[in-house]
Amino acid sequence: MYKFFIFIMLTINVPAFANDLQMTLSSQELYQGGVIHLKIHEKEGEKPALRWLDKEVHLLYRPDKKIYEGFIAADLAQKPGTYDLILSLTPSGETTHKKLKINAKDYGVRKLTLPAGQVNLSQENLERVNNEKRVIDRLWEKAETPAAFKTPFIMPLESEVIGPFGRKSIINDQPRSPHTGVDLRGKKGTPVKAANDGRIVFTGDHFFTGNSVIIDHGGEIFSMYFHLDKINVNNNAIITRGEVLGTVGSTGRSTGPHLHWGMRINGMRVDPVSFVKVSSHMEE
Ligand SMILES: [Zn+2]
Repeated sequence: MYKFFIFIMLTINVPAFANDLQMTLSSQELYQGGVIHLKIHEKEGEKPALRWLDKEVHLLYRPDKKIYEGFIAADLAQKPGTYDLILSLTPSGETTHKKLKINAKDYGVRKLTLPAGQVNLSQENLERVNNEKRVIDRLWEKAETPAAFKTPFIMPLESEVIGPFGRKSIINDQPRSPHTGVDLRGKKGTPVKAANDGRIVFTGDHFFTGNSVIIDHGGEIFSMYFHLDKINVNNNAIITRGEVLGTVGSTGRSTGPHLHWGMRINGMRVDPVSFVKVSSHMEE
């Protein structure tokens, strides 16, 4: 009886979601490759810090609205399960945990049979691909903070998805990396727009991705535009949402003109189309 009583006391003392730490989420659960927008209502004299999947979430402060906002994401390959979202306030040290579930999502599988010569890379190309991967990986480490954008993200091309995000490929019975962006339909020469404000951190011609542009939007958010025909921007340029980056093409490993568009949030590869929808929750 005594033990039972103690158990009840402990249960009651575990803080639930404290009322004065108001956090509004666009959804109560996530899926692999998904994103949630959140707002934290400012508490007088306190600065919030948010941690999710062992990383700090960058928050955008809106003094006029007295809120902080940000995005929490789940990588395409994140293990499904329940994870802690931790909000802490400085200087009070008040901390709140919220459990969020990440669900598995089946994005489908595509099986292809191709001549071996098209699949296996020569030693020379393999070295090129590995070098290019190192160049890109270095970009993620140099991410800029804070966020350079203040408005929701937009589609770089108003068209339909012809290659869905997350789809796995099995080529000649060998599993390949899943599709980490979306392929958008587009005729060669169609202008491709910046999804939001930011800085151009990469322009170049890579083996797989062809003429490529990468934007650092700050707040650990990057967008990528691949297989471009022409690139109209220079490295390090400051860019605004909707500005033309280049045109649709079929450069690199591509079977026809289209735009491959990818987004990374806090190192996590997310579905760009659903991210654009989620980002519409941002305060304008
Ligand atoms: Zn693609």
